[in-house]
Amino acid sequence: MKNIELSSDETAQYRRMWEDILDTKEVRDLFGPCTLFLKNDHGETVSAYTDGTLPEKTETFKEEKLFQIEERFWTAGAIINRDQPNSTGLYFFLSGLIPFLKRRLQEQYRIGKEKDKRYALMVQVTKKFHSSMKAAAVLKEIVQALEFIYPDSRIALHLAQDWEVHSDMGHIDCSFGFQNINEKMQQTYLLGQIQTADTEKEGISVLYIPLLGKQGVYGVLSMEAGQQLVEDEKERDYIKTLTDTGGSALENAELYQQSRTLIKDLQLINETSHFLNSTRKFEETVESMQRQIEKFIPESRQGYILMDDVRNLRMLNDEYFQAPERMETIFRVMDYFERNHEAVFTGDLLEEPSYHFDGFRSMMAVPMKQSDELKGAVIVLGIEPKTFTFHQFKLLQSLVHHSTLAFMNAVLHEKLEKLVITDHLTKLHSRRYLEQQMSDSLNKENQGTFLLFDIDNFKSINDNFGHQTGDSLIVQVGEIMEQNIRSQDTAARWGGEELAVYLPQTSLEAGRKVADRIVRHVETASYPSVTISCGASSWISGGETTLHDLFLSADQALYRAKREGKNQVVYEI
Ligand code: GH3
Ligand code: MG
Ligand code: MG
Repeated sequence: MKNIELSSDETAQYRRMWEDILDTKEVRDLFGPCTLFLKNDHGETVSAYTDGTLPEKTETFKEEKLFQIEERFWTAGAIINRDQPNSTGLYFFLSGLIPFLKRRLQEQYRIGKEKDKRYALMVQVTKKFHSSMKAAAVLKEIVQALEFIYPDSRIALHLAQDWEVHSDMGHIDCSFGFQNINEKMQQTYLLGQIQTADTEKEGISVLYIPLLGKQGVYGVLSMEAGQQLVEDEKERDYIKTLTDTGGSALENAELYQQSRTLIKDLQLINETSHFLNSTRKFEETVESMQRQIEKFIPESRQGYILMDDVRNLRMLNDEYFQAPERMETIFRVMDYFERNHEAVFTGDLLEEPSYHFDGFRSMMAVPMKQSDELKGAVIVLGIEPKTFTFHQFKLLQSLVHHSTLAFMNAVLHEKLEKLVITDHLTKLHSRRYLEQQMSDSLNKENQGTFLLFDIDNFKSINDNFGHQTGDSLIVQVGEIMEQNIRSQDTAARWGGEELAVYLPQTSLEAGRKVADRIVRHVETASYPSVTISCGASSWISGGETTLHDLFLSADQALYRAKREGKNQVVYEI
């Protein structure tokens, strides 16, 4: 059998069809020597059967052809010897062949169309893949495409993580994680290659198809399929192309989501840094940290703890953490940090008996470090076991890391403030601080008493014992004052050897008693012994007493106390 030159894909298709049908020996036996030809609709001969006894060139056919039967796309004909005995048989053979060829042709056409359809579907799905940045949407596309092409196959998804596919694909079996999966699925997952397995149903297998991205396998799609589909290389290729495209789309979506989360995290950290930079006080620093942490861990209890150079702990915020029974656990956490310098992430505190926080099962604890030294910690507790995700833990670490400097600044700021409000020699409060306290009291409270003291004949102390002894006497008087007042009272150095006390919410009578006590005490306890004089003034609400009035009256009373013999208290009303 010899073939005449072919012109196109289409004619190649016809040729194959023709050759499939014709069997050289059979035709020869039936019809004797002959040439059968097939022409396409351009009149080109696309195939010919010849047994070699007849000329095979197209031109010759034309002259010698016996008959030809025309159909839409092609013409079938035969060339035979003029004295061919079975020409009628041949005619019927060719006529009979026409519908058969026609059916084949239609079938071929349908397959071609199906291919076009699949191709179109692939293009459509691929386009959708690339426009979708949601993993669930991508997975839905893959499943829908497969359901469309293989309507009889049952599909299930086994995913590396929960992409929330279930919400709109309820009919699909969906599982997460790769704990309880069968061996074939495991192989699919590990090798990233399609695997097949038999089922209990006769002639039905399962195809396990990996959802493969560039960085790994994101899941396995299983699909029940007939033997035919399983063995058909082309079908498998098609499925693979589809799922591979889907796999990379899934990967893109996942990476996109990750980068979005990362951007959100960075925004949060940035915002927090901004807040922290704009404040110098503990309360504000803790408050802004709490607010920021609540943004990504809504249900939690946060504790802020500072540790000073001599390992004293200071709870900055929460009553729960301030309770004495928590101290032991908090010390243990700090101990751990001193040894390990690592944050702690505990899914269930019941399994960690050394960390007991009653009412809570989950804990994240992050150390605050500065130049490798432990300065404090942030502890976040959750009521349920496994309350927190690893992502939350990482983000918390980042925030605490960024906040440490702010906390240290607040410590410095507090120290500085103390310096400003403290008198260097006596360690009493400064006059400025006292004035502030008095002013607050005048605004908020309803009475108070002010005592102004001056050491008697102090010049002569300095002259006789020297300045240093003079200084020590000022300190002694200060100490005696402190010993005789309540914690809410304020003792201050007014200036030089003048000292003062403000007693909030204290009446004139009660204040006078305090003043007397101090005067008596100094006389007996100071060494070398000195005496002091005191001028007192007081206010009650309803009057129009100002700060200045209080100072002035006390000063005048003190003047009188001096004039009237010193070592006494005088009240200027
Ligand atoms: P009087 O009983 O009237 O108060 O007599 P006095 O000598 O104490 O007189 P006055 O209060 O006017 O004198 C205060 C003296 O105290 C003046 C100053 O030399 C001395 N002085 C003031 N501040 C200090 C100080 O910080 N240390 C020492 N050692 N002496 C001081
Ligand atoms: Mg004086
Ligand atoms: Mg004096």
